[in-house]
Amino acid sequence: MNHAPNAVARLRDQRIDEGIKPIQARGWRAPRCSACRVIESHCLCAWRPSVETRSGVCLIMTNKEVFKPSNTGWLIADVVRDNHAFIWSRTEVDEQLLALLNDPQWQPYLVFPGEYVEPSRVTHSVDLDQSKRPLFILLDATWTEARKIFRKSPYFDRLPILSLLPDRLSRYRLRRSTRSEHLCTAEVAALCLELAGDSDAASALDAYFDVFSQHYLGAKGQQEVNVSTPAHAELQPFIRTSNAVLAQ
Ligand SMILES: [Zn+2]
Repeated sequence: MNHAPNAVARLRDQRIDEGIKPIQARGWRAPRCSACRVIESHCLCAWRPSVETRSGVCLIMTNKEVFKPSNTGWLIADVVRDNHAFIWSRTEVDEQLLALLNDPQWQPYLVFPGEYVEPSRVTHSVDLDQSKRPLFILLDATWTEARKIFRKSPYFDRLPILSLLPDRLSRYRLRRSTRSEHLCTAEVAALCLELAGDSDAASALDAYFDVFSQHYLGAKGQQEVNVSTPAHAELQPFIRTSNAVLAQ
């Protein structure tokens, strides 16, 4: 199946062209699918959903994150058609990022925990008139890196901060029976999409993230792919092409 590479895939390919090598994790000798990064036997390509979204996303990433096979920003960029990704640097800013932030069709929101920001900048909802579309800027990095990016990027200073309320986060955790205290970037993005009324994309991303986790862990544990899971069934309606067929 041929999908256009998403913005994260393009960043990765650029880095490889520049001679930057991915870190080779131990125990991962099997070849990976270059389109979805998963070990070929567990390729995810047939499960890439296709949904309409009003929202756009912009991922701010570190060099390391672009190459991590477990990075979930990649999944967001697979689901949201208007996806952008940039490598963060303390000393330089990409002109294309500035142009995107100034593009009048978008209302950018920087997604960040409100308790670290002056209250006047913080919002908990996405309310826009029809002339603008929400653009969610996600810091796709470790928490330590994300705080540094937040503090040292003056071009983000004028943006409203979208902070997800704790009760929303805990309801989300309950619904998905997520055990970990911190949501990964894909889960945060799904919540943002839901807030913006892009509920199909939110459901597709949640299911896609679960399917990815199962394929990823299955490959790691050298288990056969099992496509008869509830997550695959949830994802199925969002697949346009008939390549993904549930096991009989
Ligand atoms: Zn693949």
